[in-house]
Amino acid sequence: MATDYDAPRKTEDDSESIEALKERVPDKMSGSVDVEDADNPSGFELPGADLSDLELDVVVLPPQEDEFTCMNCFLVKHRSQLDHEGGDGPICRECAA
Ligand SMILES: [Zn+2]
Repeated sequence: MATDYDAPRKTEDDSESIEALKERVPDKMSGSVDVEDADNPSGFELPGADLSDLELDVVVLPPQEDEFTCMNCFLVKHRSQLDHEGGDGPICRECAA
């Protein structure tokens, strides 16, 4: 009886620990990924970090001091193209026209 109870419990415990391992120990996962990605350089995590950095650069377009990002067309325009500051942000002349 005790053995019967122990068997299913052990299996459950096992699968649980594997899932927990996947989420909790990315180090070991990256190690196995490294083996699979034999083509790529071992710095597999570096491009990922770089990518997020790049994405951030694209999203957060740093406008120059004499530029602004129109909140309607989301284009970076020169200050001379600024029609007015809307409630959400600057609006360019083209959009205001
Ligand atoms: Zn615009």
